[in-house]
Amino acid sequence: MVTDIAARTGSSLRYLPHLRIQRVRRRHTKDKEQIGKERATLIMLVRNRELNDALKSMRAMEDRFNRKFRYPWTFLNDEPFTQDFINYTTGMASGKTYYGLINKDQWSIPHHIDQDKVKANMETMVSKNVIYAGSMSYRHMCRYNSGFFYRHPLLANFKWYWRVEPGVEYFCDIDYDVFEYMRVHDKVYGFVMAMYEYLVTIETLWDSTKEFIRKHPQYLASDNSLDFFVDNHPPTKSGEKEITGNYNLCHFWSNFEIASLDFWRSQAYQDYFSYLDSVGGFFYERWGDAPIHSLAVGLFLPKTKIHHFGDIGYRHPPYSRCPQDVESHQSGRCFCSRRDHFDDDGYSCLPRWWNVAGQSVGAGIKQLD
Ligand code: GDP
Ligand code: MN
Repeated sequence: MVTDIAARTGSSLRYLPHLRIQRVRRRHTKDKEQIGKERATLIMLVRNRELNDALKSMRAMEDRFNRKFRYPWTFLNDEPFTQDFINYTTGMASGKTYYGLINKDQWSIPHHIDQDKVKANMETMVSKNVIYAGSMSYRHMCRYNSGFFYRHPLLANFKWYWRVEPGVEYFCDIDYDVFEYMRVHDKVYGFVMAMYEYLVTIETLWDSTKEFIRKHPQYLASDNSLDFFVDNHPPTKSGEKEITGNYNLCHFWSNFEIASLDFWRSQAYQDYFSYLDSVGGFFYERWGDAPIHSLAVGLFLPKTKIHHFGDIGYRHPPYSRCPQDVESHQSGRCFCSRRDHFDDDGYSCLPRWWNVAGQSVGAGIKQLD
């Protein structure tokens, strides 16, 4: 029963006679029309058993950002989603929801890989206590996130995505459309945290990347971010076509990404992924998608196309980062401990990024134009 007040104001308050109060009506499926204007989706690669953590991430994302924009959610899985997973996540989403199954040949060991060598190398890594050393599914996941997610048919009509993982937290209201921000400011890749990779997982990635650039020098952007990856690297001169120096292992932490799908679909990136896949490091070592994404955006793009979202508070265990400016806290926009803060931790590469991008410490708080 709609009360007079609700009818007159056009609000969705409902009078509940048994409670003698009014309650805001919950969303119906028909109210899930997108509000934001960009061709964008939130993406989560996830397993059925991670439902609870998936809902936790969704709740925070919806509260802090998406209920204002109702961007759709796209869930991907190497196994069919259960009806429970679909029901609960659809209930939590303010926008539409899509569920995709991953093609088996994008989640299996390619024929050119020597499986005995994979097994032997895995055992060596396990004996060194390398994280996820003994996991084949982790390797498939890293390879999928590196070379296949953006080709999934469900993503064909999207230009932008925000990667969300189960079990993460967002600490601040995000009151503007981050996808619109990326488009208007001509950005391609957005991140929040940067850190060092474990060398044992990517021992030959840098050499393979150097070799790739030797074969395809045209892909190296002139205003690239080499000085983020190589300590004391002299600025790349225009026309310079080779990478020199040692990789310092810095990369953007890819469990958070706001980025353009078109970059991954570009010839440069597709060629890079194919080359990396041909040399087999996803299996012989344990290459992560984070250093691969980072090296690609850092080398193939001018550094101005990479954006640090300094105004987003975020936690992916075991690290958190929290905006440091007073305004973000006094306004109530953020709730996180300013001391629980990874940006200037000894293990963070963000200070290097601030140097590379010519930004002052703590920069990245969004300025309205
Ligand atoms: P970490 O962040 O490197 O510790 O790795 P996670 O376990 O968080 O995995 C990264 C992402 O891939 C998360 O979104 C996981 O839900 C997802 N993921 C990892 N392994 C699998 C898998 O075997 N199947 C599916 N469907 N998703 C996976
Ligand atoms: Mn994770």
